[in-house]
Amino acid sequence: MKSEVYDVAINENQAWNDPNLLYESAKILRRDTGEKVISVFYCKNAYRKLGYHFCAHQLNEDEIGIVFDDMYLNVSNTNARAFEALLMHEAGHLINGDFESDIDRDKASQMRVIEILQGKVASNELAADRFAVEHCGKNAVMQMLDIVIATRKKRNTADGEIALKELELRKQAVKRM
Ligand SMILES: [Zn+2]
Repeated sequence: MKSEVYDVAINENQAWNDPNLLYESAKILRRDTGEKVISVFYCKNAYRKLGYHFCAHQLNEDEIGIVFDDMYLNVSNTNARAFEALLMHEAGHLINGDFESDIDRDKASQMRVIEILQGKVASNELAADRFAVEHCGKNAVMQMLDIVIATRKKRNTADGEIALKELELRKQAVKRM
């Protein structure tokens, strides 16, 4: 089965004045039809508002967007390929149907922790990384994972240790792809 090809389209520079608003800064498009699959938003106060520097965020009942703040704006300026890999990982989740809400999220996240402790990465994470590798190449995905690891280390939250373990496991898996 031939999988579809997607591109990241960066929007023209805008005045990002209000630190609490979400500004669409890019979108991911299906190459053959030009159909938008996901919007990417910059929000200066994303971390304060949402608790993440970069995340997939439920915008309304039927739309999920990617939101990032200055930490990842900096990544997009210094390593555009790694930033695209990050976007494509999230697009992979969306296209694979991982965000559809009929799953029990608490239970899923408990299972995820148990698996990580056993040295396993959830299959949906691996599938999203594979999607990113197909679109951006292995090198960009490895760089992206190193960047996410560095920002997780800076954040130093309670769940940081398990998150870092998962990221290292993902790096090992991407290396083998
Ligand atoms: Zn993921």
